[in-house]
Amino acid sequence: MSNRSEDPNLASEDSIPPSEITLDPRIVKLTTRSGVDVKRTLPHRRLRTIGAWCFVDYFGPTDQLNAMSVAAHPHTGLQTVSWLFSGEVEHRDSLGSVQVIVPGELNLMTSGKGIAHSELSINQNSQLHGVQLWTALPDQDRNCEPTFNHYSNLPNFEFQSISVRVFIGEMLGHGSLAKTYTPLVGAELHVPANTQVQFPIEPDFEYGVLAVEGDVSVNTNRVVSGQLHYIPQGGQQISLSSSNEAKLMLLGGQPFTEKIVMWWNFIGRSHDEIVKMREEWQSHSPQFPDFDDQIGGRIPAPTLPNLRLSPRGNLR
Ligand code: MN
Repeated sequence: MSNRSEDPNLASEDSIPPSEITLDPRIVKLTTRSGVDVKRTLPHRRLRTIGAWCFVDYFGPTDQLNAMSVAAHPHTGLQTVSWLFSGEVEHRDSLGSVQVIVPGELNLMTSGKGIAHSELSINQNSQLHGVQLWTALPDQDRNCEPTFNHYSNLPNFEFQSISVRVFIGEMLGHGSLAKTYTPLVGAELHVPANTQVQFPIEPDFEYGVLAVEGDVSVNTNRVVSGQLHYIPQGGQQISLSSSNEAKLMLLGGQPFTEKIVMWWNFIGRSHDEIVKMREEWQSHSPQFPDFDDQIGGRIPAPTLPNLRLSPRGNLR
């Protein structure tokens, strides 16, 4: 995924996390050659991060040709978490990885100090439908060597009537092997019709519930497809109810307390760092090795805004 819209990151203030709030998505054009538009809920002016989750894009379902066609582009200081409900996406990167992402399996790319990758939807017989999420790496790990990992064997369990697949972290004793750098959890939940449950959560985590299909009530707030409902630290359980069948993403983590500069596809800590990262990408430096993305047209970095980027975070 490539972030063309820098909007909330140019806001001049830190965000004050609300007590509990439902965020509406912004519609964002992914790239000029991608058919699908994405619904982006993080970052948001009201809320920068949920745990270390700092970017939430939801897309589809769509049967457009070339729904996703994102040529080579760089990342720094983050992990990308690619998760599909249907369809297939071919991932290629500057480490030489070539991996088809399929539903129910996790692709986790840790950019560390720098990586480049591409994403191309393939197999036009099935609709493209999924999310791409980013997690911010903490300062002590953000310059690590880049890695790419694919996890096909992820824990699946039932809690009362809800079916849960954990792709990151641990939930109710069921853990994913995926490596994270801060305490995080991510899971897909299937909620059958006429459900009402109290779903246990970690009190030291904050959470976001992304409604994918169906609409649900989260702690009595109605959340419809594409919306992200935020729940601050301190809860013991989430009240989930649904009259129809629903699919949700539950994302959580310990609040990320570092201020970050998020611009285009880079996460740094200062304006000057971002300027340097941009120059390294533009000059084909070894920080972002060239690779054959099978798409062509390596994505150039946008022009920097006419202001100094400041580190931003949630005020705590
Ligand atoms: Mn990307």
